[in-house]
Order: sequence, then C-alpha cells, then structure tokens
Amino acid sequence: MRFLTEFRQPALAEALAERIRRWSGPPVSLMEVCGTHTVAIFRHGLRGLLPPQVRLLSGPGCPVCVTPNREIDKAIALASNPGVILATFGDMMKVPGSYSSLAEAKASGADVRVAYSPMEAVEIAQGNPKKAVVFFGVGFETTAPTTAASLLEAKRLGLRNFFFLSAHKLVPPALMALLEAGEVRIDGLICPGHVSTIIGSRPYEFIPRDYAIPCVISGFEPVDILQAIAMLLDMRAEGKAEVAIQYRRAVRPQGNPQALETMAGAFQVGGAEWRGLGPIPQSGLHLRDGMEAFAAERHLEMKIRPPREAVACRCGEVLRGLINPPECSIFGTGCTPEHPVGPCMVSTEGTCAAWFLYKPGG
Ligand code: SF4
Repeated sequence: MRFLTEFRQPALAEALAERIRRWSGPPVSLMEVCGTHTVAIFRHGLRGLLPPQVRLLSGPGCPVCVTPNREIDKAIALASNPGVILATFGDMMKVPGSYSSLAEAKASGADVRVAYSPMEAVEIAQGNPKKAVVFFGVGFETTAPTTAASLLEAKRLGLRNFFFLSAHKLVPPALMALLEAGEVRIDGLICPGHVSTIIGSRPYEFIPRDYAIPCVISGFEPVDILQAIAMLLDMRAEGKAEVAIQYRRAVRPQGNPQALETMAGAFQVGGAEWRGLGPIPQSGLHLRDGMEAFAAERHLEMKIRPPREAVACRCGEVLRGLINPPECSIFGTGCTPEHPVGPCMVSTEGTCAAWFLYKPGG
C-alpha cells in the first residue's frame, strides 16, 4: 500500500478486524505507547472493532503529559522575568504547573509566545536583541532534531540572547522503566511510528530480548494500527517475540542517521524526571558540552517554589496504563478540556482528552 487512502479503506480495515476477532488465545493487553496512536484509535473507533479478549492500554507517549510540574514551573519562572520572552509549542500553554499555567502567566503580563517551530524562537531572538528569548523545548525523538537544528543555527549566528530550557525526553528508557516496574501486564507493544522514523527499530530490541514482549512499530492510519495489532497477535500465537516494522514506508532499522547526527550535535543524554514514572536514567536530552551558553537555567534568574500536584489528579496512573481515565473521580466533571486539572486532559495527544472527546457518552 502506498497512498494514504489505501490505509483508510473500510474493506481492508474490516478484513484485519475479522482476523483479530479470530484470536482464540488467552486475553491479551496491548499497549499503544504513543499519544497520536491513542487519539487515532479513538477517532476511528478501533476499540469497538476488537474482541473483548484483546484489550488496548494507553502508555506514556504524550510528551506534554509526561512533563512534570517542576519543568513547567521553571518555564513560568523564566517567563515571569521582565526581560524574557518565552516561546514554546501551543500544547504547553494550558498545562497546569504547580501554581499556574503559562497561559495564566501570559494573562498576568509575562511575554509568552506560541512557536510553531523552534526556528521561530530563533527568529524572535534575532528580532529582539535586547530581550532574552527562551525556547521551552518539549517532545520526544520526533521533535528533538528540529530543536537541535535551531540550537546549532543559533550557535552559527552567534546569538547571545537565545536560551533553551529542555523537557525533551527519550521513549525507549521510559519503556524500560515501565516494564521493569512490572505494575501492568503488557503482552505486546504498539511502538510509535514518528519516533521510530528517527531512531529506527533497533533501540526497542531489549524489549523482546529481556521481557519476551513482541513489538510492532505502527503507522497512524486505521489500517496501520489494525495491521500492527494483527501482527502482535500472530507473534503471540507463534510464541515469538520480535521487533517488527509495520510502518515500512517511513521506518528503517537504523532510523534517520542525519537527524540522529543533528541531535548529537546539540544534545547529550542524561537523567530526566517523568510525570508518573519519576526519575529515569538516560531518558532526557540536555545541552551537550560546548553548548552551555544556551542553558537558560544557568544564565537567567529563576525563582521556583517546591512543586506540588493536584490532589485528585491520577494522570500518573493513566500514563502507566494502570487506570482508564473514567476511573479518575473528576474525569468529565471537575476536569474537562476547557478546565483541565491534569495534562492528560489538555494535550491533543492526552489519553483523558481522547476519552472525553471520542468515547460515547464522554
Ligand atoms: S481526568 Fe483530569 S485529573 Fe483525572 S487523570 Fe485525567 S487529566 Fe488527570
């Protein structure tokens, strides 16, 4: 299949769903790691096509949702500095930190701007030489190469008023932490297509090797996802655990060497804090040696209070696949997309938002 319409053909989808419904093994729980998959599954009603013994769980693959309050608090503290313009992706604006959100900080007079790409933040810095411009970078391996490219461009331009606050995170170490914790039974992983376009399939090889769990890297159309589920069931039926690529039109085992090289030019890997998962070694991207001039935390004033969590919010458990959003006592009542209490209800890739928008009766 080569064209997008082919991946939305009802007949193909129905044939795959029929193949899945023939599953005669024990009940299985398959985790879709990526928030974009979660939303696609709901939008196309794929859960309704599956038999009861094939259950889908949502995982920690929404970058906005896994950003802990402390990182949002830092961004707000930087933005509150009168000499600072803070630029970030639109999804971050309404995410509540410990005490407020970036949208609230903007309403109170902070200069917070939505950037559609990190390069736009570089342009803002060029146009505002008397201001310090901070790019608050959030995202997985999918967006990290463009952030890295913007940092390298700022370096090439010799910009002295461009700074970076990193909330960039890496997916495979989070999967290792999730599997190592063993809180939730996972019989197969639907791995993220976009992330894998960058990193390839090899970084997931520890999953079948160390945990005997099959993985399929999937595209985002209904036929892609159903085919990935069918491939996972086939592997389970055959007693095999491997990393397979369903999203062959975009993913190679070795990933995208140029993007990986760009990332390595700006970042080095280090520990990071994840909402719901806590600190995970080697799961974050930090400025590499030689790029310290861009470190916002090092060069700009930032006063933050100790982080705190909304008491009722169960985003951490949603992100670990332990509960479905309606099990949170304030889902759809005290917490809605208009008045979100946790990030899983804010982000367009958030599991709570997907349940709220697409679940019948939601
Ligand atoms: S419903 Fe709201 S408060 Fe509850 S887990 Fe989801 S985002 Fe968090």
